[in-house]
Amino acid sequence: MDKVNTISLFPKGEKLPNEWFTGEAFLSPLVSKDKNNEFSAGAVTFEIDARTNWHTHPKGQVLIVIEGSGFYQEKGKAARAITKGDVVNIPENVEHWHGASAKTSMTHIAITNFKEDVQVTWLKPVTNEEFNQANNQK
Ligand code: MN
Repeated sequence: MDKVNTISLFPKGEKLPNEWFTGEAFLSPLVSKDKNNEFSAGAVTFEIDARTNWHTHPKGQVLIVIEGSGFYQEKGKAARAITKGDVVNIPENVEHWHGASAKTSMTHIAITNFKEDVQVTWLKPVTNEEFNQANNQK
């Protein structure tokens, strides 16, 4: 019995690679890029402590939090706590990460635009020190 899954809007999906994600993160694809849509959309679930690497999107990204809470942080700025119902409109080429918190899991829909065939450039992992700083800020 998986209580969490029975109340989730979408399937949890497949585990995302630890090359680009720290911890346990999962993707459930929703919409693929096609002749009309220059984006893809998917539901991403981050278990406690899980997060993306630092990364950029060449044409930006929109996140819609549908369950739980976590963080969104742009390089050089304080982390922003985000929770169910929050929407984050991420500009192009801004280095950032998103993920769960140390105490809560988080699921967001990610709508990610393409620039030609590229939608993300992966950078370094978010260190435990950086993650702890997000969790401990007031
Ligand atoms: Mn992103």
